[in-house]
Amino acid sequence: MNAIQRTLSALLLLAPLTACATDRQVIEQANDAHHELEPAVLKDPELAGYLQSMGDRIVGEAKKLSDARFGPKSHFDEDPAWMFSNSQFHFVNSETLNAFTTGGSHMYIYTQLLQQCRSEDELAAVMAHEYAHVYARHVRKGMDRQYVAMGGALAAGVLGYTLADDNKLEVAGLAAVGAGMLGSFLNQGFTRDDEAEADSLGFEFYARAGWDPARFGDFFQAMIDLGYDTTPEMMSDHPTLASRVVAARAAAAKLPADAKSWRKPAVAEGPKFKAMQSRAAQIAKSLPKDQTMETAQTLLNAVGNCLMPTDQPQQIEARTKVEKALGN
Ligand SMILES: [Zn+2]
Repeated sequence: MNAIQRTLSALLLLAPLTACATDRQVIEQANDAHHELEPAVLKDPELAGYLQSMGDRIVGEAKKLSDARFGPKSHFDEDPAWMFSNSQFHFVNSETLNAFTTGGSHMYIYTQLLQQCRSEDELAAVMAHEYAHVYARHVRKGMDRQYVAMGGALAAGVLGYTLADDNKLEVAGLAAVGAGMLGSFLNQGFTRDDEAEADSLGFEFYARAGWDPARFGDFFQAMIDLGYDTTPEMMSDHPTLASRVVAARAAAAKLPADAKSWRKPAVAEGPKFKAMQSRAAQIAKSLPKDQTMETAQTLLNAVGNCLMPTDQPQQIEARTKVEKALGN
């Protein structure tokens, strides 16, 4: 049995028994997915160290809030200790404007998104939002929804496909797709409520970690200015960018008076931030454009949209490719 079949068998066994995924399953799936995405990760120590310093600030504040029993019920479903010990933020080589998390220890910031950020505040806001999906166990909730929706029948159908026709993925040039990525793909997408919750939790982490509370919504505003807020809320799984800006402003206005004392200098101020952006662009360009990179980038495009209300053309294309590969 290969990795894909193992996961599908696990899904199949799990579906009739329970509609509750566990942290262990989410973490394992995320680690499998990371293996597929790794070729696109920028392994430069300076960039990785920079992102991790920012991440540590976010995670450190999240831990304090968790100790104070702050957050949705889903945060306390299981012991959250793992979320504070091994969270990794990665820059990944992609021309798509996105960031996402597989719900375990890995969060991905696409290089295109880094290039669009006008300051570290915007990058920090996106990172805090991604980490909030982990904090609130949104991937696990998505898996639970999936089990309920799938029942046994669809899972059996998917298993039938892998057993009978395992070479379809190879045909599509996605031979390296592993169990975790397939799982993530199937579980793609957070609900509009999840997104709003991740914004609101993310804002708390971000503000307490010292970035400017007034700038939390800046990234969304920048996307509005670029013309991305075109889909009415009813048509999208996401809150509109405009409503996210409004919510960010409201959250900033509600901060306690002592919130001023939370402020810290950016990890990389102004020109240093620009230098990080140039370095990332340069390193992304120097990575080998081989099959593993192509697969990783296709998968990065196929996963759900975490920030934008509408799909970019390359995301639709990648999803069609993966669906075709899966025989759907
Ligand atoms: Zn999100």
